[in-house]
Amino acid sequence: TIGMLCLDEKGDIAGACTTSGLAYKMNGRVGDSPIIGAGLYLDNEIGGAVATGMGEAIMKSVGSFLIVELMRQGKSAQEACEIAVERIVKQNSNYKDFQVAFLALAKNGEIGSFCLHKGFTFVKYQDNQNTNTPSQSYL
Ligand code: ASP
Repeated sequence: TIGMLCLDEKGDIAGACTTSGLAYKMNGRVGDSPIIGAGLYLDNEIGGAVATGMGEAIMKSVGSFLIVELMRQGKSAQEACEIAVERIVKQNSNYKDFQVAFLALAKNGEIGSFCLHKGFTFVKYQDNQNTNTPSQSYL
């Protein structure tokens, strides 16, 4: 999955995601990416979130919506991503067997990211500069 979150000079948020789905997926499987609230969610008053990884776990937690709602309640983008991963851990006894990662962007420009297993990196592009940042992980 490729997920993108953007904040323009007026402070408006945009986001997108694209995926080919999981390897060896069943014919007809719909993953989290095309489901608003699961793989992607934005609220221009609050911020946005995108997800990658095991779509079934992301859908079950409605992860991107959860993150935006947590930010609405005052959590930072980082805290919200961590809570969403912890929710997935709680909901799935086999959580060690798959990866999920979330990225969030708050209306004030603050970024959060968190993943289950090490290995998720995101890029921040600002002022003509790319910054690569490895995400913190649960495991
Ligand atoms: N989230 C995608 C899916 O489950 C997989 C991916 O991250 O590429 O369909």
